[in-house]
Amino acid sequence: MSSKPRLLIIEDEAPIRNGLVDVFLFHGFEVESAEEGTRGLSLALAGNYDLVLLDLMLPGLNGFDLCERLRAARPDQPVIMLTARSSDEDIVHGLTLGADDYVAKPFSVTQLVLRVQAVLRRTRPPGETRQSIRLGESVEIDCDNLAARTPAGEVRFTRREMEIVRYLASHAGRAVSREELLEEVWGYARNLGLETRTVDIHIAKLRRKIEPDPGSPSFLVTVRGVGYRLLQGP
Ligand code: CA
Repeated sequence: MSSKPRLLIIEDEAPIRNGLVDVFLFHGFEVESAEEGTRGLSLALAGNYDLVLLDLMLPGLNGFDLCERLRAARPDQPVIMLTARSSDEDIVHGLTLGADDYVAKPFSVTQLVLRVQAVLRRTRPPGETRQSIRLGESVEIDCDNLAARTPAGEVRFTRREMEIVRYLASHAGRAVSREELLEEVWGYARNLGLETRTVDIHIAKLRRKIEPDPGSPSFLVTVRGVGYRLLQGP
């Protein structure tokens, strides 16, 4: 499965449409296009696009109506409207119908690419972009794939090890006790007097995988008398 952002361009003027297709392909997007509103809407409804670039004046179904119908079916669909009309009233109307942004023609292609990227940063599900954890300059943990890139090569984690790293990363501002890890990661009730050594064994295994020097940890550090803390770097 591709992780490229998917873009649908709905624009009736061929030179603009073709130019935009080329530009976004060049910038690493997967691109489809339609030259007419009704076809554009059915593509938008059938496909799973990260963003729709929508011309306002279109044959078949105009951009406002298309946006309204698209939004009714897919309230979260990001849309940027493209138009030669740039009165305040049009802009307000477009944004009311749920466009995320509005770019007036003639536009600078560079500006448009930046606007698209800005909308995607706001709207792409966090799961697609935030599932990696960086440690210092050299370690990058890929949470979804239970793996990490380290200077020594790729290492693999068990699901439990990954849950420990994720829990520590999401509480990186403080030390986390062994009891808390047992409760949050293992799901054990507190005060059962369970072996906190289980946690230590897992931490030791993790250190061998991600620490440059496991005997002297720089990421997964021990906070004496408390527990463990994840340091993600300077
Ligand atoms: Ca047009």
